[in-house]
Amino acid sequence: RGTMYHSHGIEVYHKPRDFTNLDHDAGFNLQKLAWIEQKDTAEAFARVRVIDEISEDTVLVEHEDHSREEQVSKEQLYMMNPPKYDHVEDMAELLHMHEPAVVHNLTQRYKRNDIYTYSGMFLVAVNPYRNLPIYSTDIIRQYRKKRRGELSPHIYAIADHAFHDMLHDKENQSILITGESGAGKTENTKIVIQYLASIAGNGSNGFGTGFAKKSTLETQILQANPILEAFGNAQTIRNNNSSRFGKFIRIAFNRSGDISGAFIDWYLLETSRVHTQTLEERNYHIFYQLLNAADQGIKEQLKISQHCPADFNYTKNSNHTIQGVDDTAEYSKLVHSMKIMGIDANERLEFFRVVIAVLYLGNIVVNGNYSRVDVSNYEMACQLLEISPQSFKKNLLEPQIKAGNEWVSQSKSSSQIKDNLDALSKVLYERNFGHLVSRINSAIDGPQSLEGMSISEGERFIGVLDIAGFEIFKVNSFEQLCINYTNEKLQDFFNQNMFVLEEREYKKENIRCDESLDYRNDLQPTISLIESSKNPIGILSCLEEECVTQGTDERLLAKICDQNKSNERFTRDKYNQGFSIKHYAGEVKYQTAGWIERGKDPLNENVARLLAESTNPHVAALFKDYAPELPNSPVRQLDVRKSLYRTRKGAGNFHTVGYKHKQQLSVLMDTLQKTHPHFVRCILPNDRKRPGEIQPKLVLDQLRCNGVLEGIRICRVGFPNRLLFEQFREQYKLLAPDLIENERDHRKACQMLLSTSQLDSDQFQIGRTKVFFKAGMLGKLEEHRDIRL
Ligand code: ADP
Ligand code: MG
Repeated sequence: RGTMYHSHGIEVYHKPRDFTNLDHDAGFNLQKLAWIEQKDTAEAFARVRVIDEISEDTVLVEHEDHSREEQVSKEQLYMMNPPKYDHVEDMAELLHMHEPAVVHNLTQRYKRNDIYTYSGMFLVAVNPYRNLPIYSTDIIRQYRKKRRGELSPHIYAIADHAFHDMLHDKENQSILITGESGAGKTENTKIVIQYLASIAGNGSNGFGTGFAKKSTLETQILQANPILEAFGNAQTIRNNNSSRFGKFIRIAFNRSGDISGAFIDWYLLETSRVHTQTLEERNYHIFYQLLNAADQGIKEQLKISQHCPADFNYTKNSNHTIQGVDDTAEYSKLVHSMKIMGIDANERLEFFRVVIAVLYLGNIVVNGNYSRVDVSNYEMACQLLEISPQSFKKNLLEPQIKAGNEWVSQSKSSSQIKDNLDALSKVLYERNFGHLVSRINSAIDGPQSLEGMSISEGERFIGVLDIAGFEIFKVNSFEQLCINYTNEKLQDFFNQNMFVLEEREYKKENIRCDESLDYRNDLQPTISLIESSKNPIGILSCLEEECVTQGTDERLLAKICDQNKSNERFTRDKYNQGFSIKHYAGEVKYQTAGWIERGKDPLNENVARLLAESTNPHVAALFKDYAPELPNSPVRQLDVRKSLYRTRKGAGNFHTVGYKHKQQLSVLMDTLQKTHPHFVRCILPNDRKRPGEIQPKLVLDQLRCNGVLEGIRICRVGFPNRLLFEQFREQYKLLAPDLIENERDHRKACQMLLSTSQLDSDQFQIGRTKVFFKAGMLGKLEEHRDIRL
């Protein structure tokens, strides 16, 4: 007896609500029960009962636990939803859509292990921290070709809709997964990919039953993850297996829905972790896997047969093992995955050797100062990198730089040498990671390369983005600016999408909407503030200019302030050597100390050139962009990210990390623009990695940052509550039961009900199939109805 309708462009199956037990709600007095915010408490909101009206805008409330009474302004009161709305699967259906209602609903559902919930266009996923019996081949089968609403919310439903829409609309799809560290992004990404690999059984076309035996290609795609995790994940306080990079995996399908290839892009690998970690954390997993678990033969070849994490500066000051994680088992998985990928023993050793060379670089001892700096213990690093130790030492201590037309040698202080070595370690590690991803891509990229987006006629892709969400820490630096900038752009993308879909729905239903409520450019001032390249120049361009002209952090800050002082989203922070930006998720203070140094990238070019000439082809390839250019030599494009590394076209002409990120992000946004997006928001339930425990304040903060509440805010700008005529009639017939009893036409019946309702006529509109209401209006109707009950 259900009905079909569209909500935010998604086809939804509407199960009629059971109104036979309205009595259950009758005792619920809408006017009386409410939430009020409890700032600075873990509960975030308190349940109260309104007991008296003090003045036009103040009421007296009593806390539900009878602990106390207080006066609050009506604006601070959030009406509670009647019990029949408990555990709703789509929060867009809530009578009262506001912060406490959303937090309450998620909390209630989480306690029943319902970790997935829709909120309009979003799927919200709360990390269960336990293995729930909701992922299996059987359940995958159940979600095949089901409409939203037929089964409970699930990440499988999102994957299935993406797959269906891709085939049906012949359009590329994207699934955008964000959230805090530890919230479950990477787990959900894996689940999406497993789902797709499972239903799109190669050769057994996706329109049919699928579930064929996996082809080599699908197996390889599934095995990419353990490799990425070994080299790109680490233990952090938040997450024992935290991805320290963002990724966008595109899976290509042919016309009949079989997987034809895949391609991985990656973003912002956290390289500082290579040389520094805090006590409760670890360096990248691969270091410990090799030191703790590689077989003796391999360890000998890597020159670590007698070594453990305590022997290296880059690993000794943090955890050496993780409770519950077995490095030996993880190492076997890594080797297995690399084998499946076609990376043989020799090639594996090449990647491992660079990792260990990085460890040995960290053990180089630097003595003395200026004219008398010396280094020792550098031979082993050179041996592994296959470069001459004498040349290495010379280039490190006395690099030659070009001054005008002459080469002069430059002397360095010991701390500069140490910085150079750390910078070299970071670059080596990052480039090795980049090559590994390229190597995986060459194995899974299928017949048609996705690299240039030039997939063949009839092919389409589903891209899954797994990227860190908005961050507000006590001290926010350049890394946070990059990640928050990314999220601002992604939220902007969401807003544009929502606007287009809402507009389409209003047009279809013949609903008028006030143009002054256009929220499409809401985030533009913030985005320009960060990325604008002229008039006025934004933060990233200021940084770029100051790095090139050898500026200082002070000059950088002065320039940023001078250029952007009239931007409403910008304020200078007089006390903290920095500035603050009003992001959609809140105001964030950034400190600019150290930005110039980081931007300048103190990589010693002389050493980089030496590495480009290494007798080891893998090492030489990592630094190919530093090799003397041979005219017309055919260049083998080993690394698609080459352009992301410092480009050398004369002194000073290089790009900062921020600039590179801006470019990469712009490519990503262009790709996303051409897809039909699906949005997933992961939530960390508590800060103790515990199952079953949920901290409302923590959840609220995340909802404010992840766009779910922003989505609700912009939804409320228009007519957020919409009900099919039949649905509305059923739900509110009590408003005028006699009047409509014999009316056959649902639309007319709705008109009659509404005309007796005393609602202002600008607070609702009657479309072609649905009635649309401004926020809060349904609540008023419920009151009228309940009075009649
Ligand atoms: P993120 O990528 O957002 O930092 P992860 O996906 O790595 O977070 O999740 C952190 C940890 O939480 C995982 O290692 C796993 O233990 C647990 N977890 C996350 N999602 C799920 C899930 N759906 N089912 C079971 N455990 C999960
Ligand atoms: Mg992750």
